[in-house]
Amino acid sequence: MLLNGSCHCQRVKFSVETHTPYPYMRCYCSICRKTQGGGGYAINIMGEADTLKVLGEHNLSIYHARIKEGRKTLRSPGRRHFCRKCGSSLWVWDPRWPQWVYPFASAIDTPLPRPREVQHILLNYAPRWVEVPRRKTDRYFREFPRESIIDWHQKRGLYK
Ligand SMILES: [Zn+2]
Ligand SMILES: [Zn+2]
Repeated sequence: MLLNGSCHCQRVKFSVETHTPYPYMRCYCSICRKTQGGGGYAINIMGEADTLKVLGEHNLSIYHARIKEGRKTLRSPGRRHFCRKCGSSLWVWDPRWPQWVYPFASAIDTPLPRPREVQHILLNYAPRWVEVPRRKTDRYFREFPRESIIDWHQKRGLYK
């Protein structure tokens, strides 16, 4: 499935092929909340990095999240791409998994399929004010789930 995406000011547009288009995972970590998810979480999906095409690339900026571990502050290798004109978060690319790119569902303009169940992850980092919906169909994780994005789609017959 081909996905088209853009930032809010439209200076950056992109397209990417995906086999895993379901936006089923809500991440409540502080990076997602502060950089993209005003309501408490962000949703990334996954595409094939070698199919990524970008228009307006000169408007992109990259944020390497800073993560505190005890006294040290580490620089996350993940490259969080955003439009430096309007601030829209667009995708994450991580050199540890170079074959994938992780667009934010919010940046995608192509209608995405709606998941029947949602996974809420990294709940250890959600502040108290964030309302996490409690649904029988959903699954809840304090940290990362073991299941990969590909496995999630394949097990449900949704890998395209
Ligand atoms: Zn923009
Ligand atoms: Zn996160």
